[in-house]
Amino acid sequence: MNYLSHQNPKDFHGKRVLLRLDLNVPLNEAGHVDPSDADRITKSLPTLQWLQEAGAKTIIISHIGRDPKETLRPVARYMETLMTIGFDPELSGERLHEMIHNLGNGHAIMLENLRSNPGEESNDEVFAKSLADMADFYVNDAFAVSHRAHASLVGIPKLLPSFAGLQMEQEIEHLSKSFTPSSPSILVLGGAKFETKLPVISKFLNIVDHIVIGGALANNFYKEMGYEIGASLVDETANISSLLGNEKIIIPKLVIVENDKGHETKNALDVTRSDKIVDIAPEGLDEYAQLFADATFVLWNGPMGNYENGFVDGSKKIINLISSSHAESIVGGGDSVALIEQLDMADKFGFLSTGGGAMLEYLAQGTLPGIEALN
Ligand code: ADP
Ligand code: MG
Repeated sequence: MNYLSHQNPKDFHGKRVLLRLDLNVPLNEAGHVDPSDADRITKSLPTLQWLQEAGAKTIIISHIGRDPKETLRPVARYMETLMTIGFDPELSGERLHEMIHNLGNGHAIMLENLRSNPGEESNDEVFAKSLADMADFYVNDAFAVSHRAHASLVGIPKLLPSFAGLQMEQEIEHLSKSFTPSSPSILVLGGAKFETKLPVISKFLNIVDHIVIGGALANNFYKEMGYEIGASLVDETANISSLLGNEKIIIPKLVIVENDKGHETKNALDVTRSDKIVDIAPEGLDEYAQLFADATFVLWNGPMGNYENGFVDGSKKIINLISSSHAESIVGGGDSVALIEQLDMADKFGFLSTGGGAMLEYLAQGTLPGIEALN
């Protein structure tokens, strides 16, 4: 892998560098970036600083939101408070080329939302070339979107000498450790959308010693085992019959259900038609305390419960089990990280991945289109 951190900064002096970042942060009601939501921006700063100190002319590219009309201007405004940065509401044109031409060494300019051009998502060669023509080098520091074969991720690196940025390097270095973990190792998998997690389970059954299932994924197992699950969330499309009875897979026995009485802890066998399983009961995880205490590696993705509605106890218990062991710990996933930050417990982990879908795909495939494109 061509890591930026392994390059000689002198080679970047005065050079124009297209830097793909993931600046897709939520905006508040006033249309501004909230510092509490600015994690992705903060994690982009080391690469930006590296390029700045090398004296490169950095051209920042990113997408934001789902609507192609959304603008990155509020993100640029926010970043102006952290560093000197220009913004140009274009992706092409005479004026933009002139601005880049006049950019001083060590300075940075941000371009408009990449997805305002349909060529971004369709990986249009002409669009990729129009961007590549502005620069001498390309750097990808957008791990969380590198599972997409978009022009800015796989098209441009075909056309320019390309490097992995500092955050990307962290992601690859940490997540790749999951493929050869020290034993005993545990994968904790929760959340929803079983279909996206099945490939990870299949692969890690051959890698880790134990897989603890929680979240709505557990509901699929209860259902497959013939238990009543009432109104609980399940992924109807997932076929998990081949996983049943696998000794590595641990399905917690106690759950928290919501029903007309409020919520209560129950044995998963006692769930009735009017119950809705919303969390893994923390006391049900006590019997695995020794497993966690002995573990030397724990990888976690997916909340144990419906955390947006306050059901965080199962996830809190997992965090406690992980932090009271000496295991090397890695956690990732959009909702998982949101939950951990909501609980202010990010410091309990060795590494927090910025990737949601990208992390799952990296774990399942061992690489991503945007990473392959850098080779
Ligand atoms: P991540 O983004 O970390 O990969 P997922 O997107 O797979 O995680 O899953 C997170 C979602 O799963 C959250 O919306 C959470 O509320 C939901 N969830 C977890 N457990 C349950 C449950 N028992 N019932 C309903 N929703 C659940
Ligand atoms: Mg999610």
